[in-house]
Amino acid sequence: MKVTEHIQKAKGKTQFSFEILPPLKGQNIQGIFDSITPLMEFKPPFIDVTYHREEYEYREAGNGLWEKRVVRKRPGTVGICSAIQSKFKVDAIPHILCGGFSKEDTENFLIDLDFLGIDNVVALRGDAVKNETYFKPEEKGNKYACDLVQQIQNLNDGIYLDPELENTSKTDFCIGVAGYPEKHMEAPNFDTDLKYLKQKIDKGADYIITQMFFDNQKFFDFVKSCREIGIDVPIIPGMKPLATLSQLNLLPQRFKVDLPDTLVAEVQKAKDNTAVKEIGIEWCAQQTKELIAAGIPIVHYYSMGKSENIKQIIKRASI
Ligand code: FAD
Repeated sequence: MKVTEHIQKAKGKTQFSFEILPPLKGQNIQGIFDSITPLMEFKPPFIDVTYHREEYEYREAGNGLWEKRVVRKRPGTVGICSAIQSKFKVDAIPHILCGGFSKEDTENFLIDLDFLGIDNVVALRGDAVKNETYFKPEEKGNKYACDLVQQIQNLNDGIYLDPELENTSKTDFCIGVAGYPEKHMEAPNFDTDLKYLKQKIDKGADYIITQMFFDNQKFFDFVKSCREIGIDVPIIPGMKPLATLSQLNLLPQRFKVDLPDTLVAEVQKAKDNTAVKEIGIEWCAQQTKELIAAGIPIVHYYSMGKSENIKQIIKRASI
């Protein structure tokens, strides 16, 4: 079922969804199943599975030479989605990137998803390859997420890349895109970023999932700004509980998000990471409680295979 249909069906009751990573190459799928099982009691409308593009590694080849190798550390997004749908009878949503995909690759990827009975996709640009400063689109690939949304929408309209194909079948994907309450790190300013977000919606995206934030006011302000420029699709908040002391610096550096003073002060006083984890759970539970009270249809957790803290957050928030 489409994300938009899940929202309509819930009739205002807040639902909880989760996002997981495929396992590292060499590991099996059992770990994924084990991390999802404890969360099924919350009857998630869907589970997202991230996509991880190739990385470059340099290995010594002898004689002082280095060999550049292309590695994909976390393959399996599509297979995992299919396995989740079949095992848990829940909608699984693959993320799909511009980076690393030609338009032809994208079309073939989408055809696989359609044949597997996957109804939703999250369309993203992707980041620069590790060790590179700027994002480089693939030759004959999509440059921005809005171009990818356009390609998916074309397929939904039965328009394939080969203009000579006749009697084509239309796909019917519900399309999610990313939104940034504190603006995307490369955007020159908030309003420009918002303008490009609107472009994704105008090209056919059906809903937005946000980057993590630790201050709900930033989310509420973001929603207000979206509504003011005519973005009227559902906006799903993305939440990540803080779990380690090092994340105080890592999260702002990696995701360009601010951590509120009160949260930082509490974490700095914690005696170890067990205490930090507890602070993160309580903070995220209070955020969730406020989002439920505000009538937010779905709260999405970047659970990343760690189900125990997410379970506690939802339980505390639902009291
Ligand atoms: P875009 O919407 O294309 O925006 C990228 C930048 O370009 C922004 O600064 C925007 O303002 C600007 N821009 C957009 N359109 C235009 C235009 N037409 N002209 C000029 N400038 C423009 N990464 C992964 O690798 N795998 C994942 O599974 C993954 N999942 C994610 C899930 C969520 C919910 C979020 C929030 C992020 C996720 N990411 C993932 C990270 C994402 O790929 C990066 O944040 C990436 O840098 C931007 O992706 P985007 O889709 O927001 O890009």
